Amino acid sequence: MKIHTIGGYNEVGKNMTAVEIGEDIIVFDCGLFLPAVIDLQENERNPTPQMLQTAGAIPDQKFLLKNKDKVRAFLITHAHLDHVGAVHNYVHKFPNAQVIGTPFTIEVLKALMQDSKQHLKNKLISIHPGGAINIKGKNTTYKAEFLNMTHSTIQSTMIALHTPEGIVAYANDYKLDNTPIMGSPPNYEKFRKLAKQGIKVAIIDCLYADTDRKTNSEKIARAMVEESLLTIDHGNNGIIISTFSSHIARLKSIVEFSKKLNREVIFMGRSLAKYTNAAKRVDQCPFAKDIRISTYTNQLKSSLKRVEKNRGKYVVVCTGHQGEEGSILDRLIKNKLHFNFTAKDSVIFSSKVIPAPVNIQHRAIMDKKLKQKDVRIFDNVHVSGHGGREDLRELLNILKPQHFIPSHGGFDKTTSGLNLAKEMGYKQNKNVHLCKNGTVIEVK
Ligand SMILES: [Zn+2]
Repeated sequence: MKIHTIGGYNEVGKNMTAVEIGEDIIVFDCGLFLPAVIDLQENERNPTPQMLQTAGAIPDQKFLLKNKDKVRAFLITHAHLDHVGAVHNYVHKFPNAQVIGTPFTIEVLKALMQDSKQHLKNKLISIHPGGAINIKGKNTTYKAEFLNMTHSTIQSTMIALHTPEGIVAYANDYKLDNTPIMGSPPNYEKFRKLAKQGIKVAIIDCLYADTDRKTNSEKIARAMVEESLLTIDHGNNGIIISTFSSHIARLKSIVEFSKKLNREVIFMGRSLAKYTNAAKRVDQCPFAKDIRISTYTNQLKSSLKRVEKNRGKYVVVCTGHQGEEGSILDRLIKNKLHFNFTAKDSVIFSSKVIPAPVNIQHRAIMDKKLKQKDVRIFDNVHVSGHGGREDLRELLNILKPQHFIPSHGGFDKTTSGLNLAKEMGYKQNKNVHLCKNGTVIEVK
């Protein structure tokens, strides 16, 4: 079998890895490279698939187009845009290939298609975490298992692809959270069973393999949210919280502790609405009845008018934790939504600034403006969704793959995975492989 590392090996984003066996190709993930999308959108609100391809915002298509008739399926691990976000701008070129993911992932994909008014002829198939599906190849059938994996959005999976030449395990992205707030812990039992059968090759997220840690459970983030809301006297001041819109478990914690303050919770912003509604449609939004959602400017203004008058009675959950221009928090700070911050209002960032220059700069500007208004800031009320070095060691020990391909970034990220593997007895270019976009590894 050949593993083609198509995207996400030169950058953090546009994840895509393809497995080629004889007459069949099965593809893992189809994501966006968000910085390129943001650059594009400065000139063009709805860039075409061709524009996205030219700008390097979606995975390269040369290899797959050359082998168009062999492409059988796109298997999507989870609902983050760097894994699912390119599907509707990519898979139409392979109309016979199925797109398979967990229900939440497929709902998010449908929402993305609706936003950009695109339609796909491809079959979209939902598989519950723990489920499996058979994929018809030319001369053989492949089984793909979608196994519970923990991360920072719901229904995230590790995919195990059973082929005549062995099992391919794809764990991109993951953390090992034994006490998740939503969903089940990683399916260790199944992982061990696969290891016993023999995993030929594992592709594993190494985004934080350079960090000497075992990433904390989401239950720690929940406790941090509790601390920032319940152990501080917020009086009758405003509370504004911003977090990742796709982080449904975090939103659940935020809503539950806000309710304990006897405050009404209002979600503001289109992307919060998109992910929350997708979660609702697949019955994964336990707080649906406890929130109101405002998206359109008029809705936002009338909701905020009420908040302004009675700020002690509400918690506003909104977009903008990366300092993004045009986000709700940005517009609130710039007085564009009939709301004025007053001294002692609290802004809670249940997030971490993504360490890219543009994010750091945007947030610094935002924080400065908030401080000029004497607002209290609670930053980093957050734990990561990605495993650290010790999670990776743990996962490699459990899966015991014959070959290991570190993923989710350039050499600056993947080299740490390589070094750990070498420490564990793997040999570079023999059974641990550092890849770039476009690398082909023949696994025997
Ligand atoms: Zn992710």
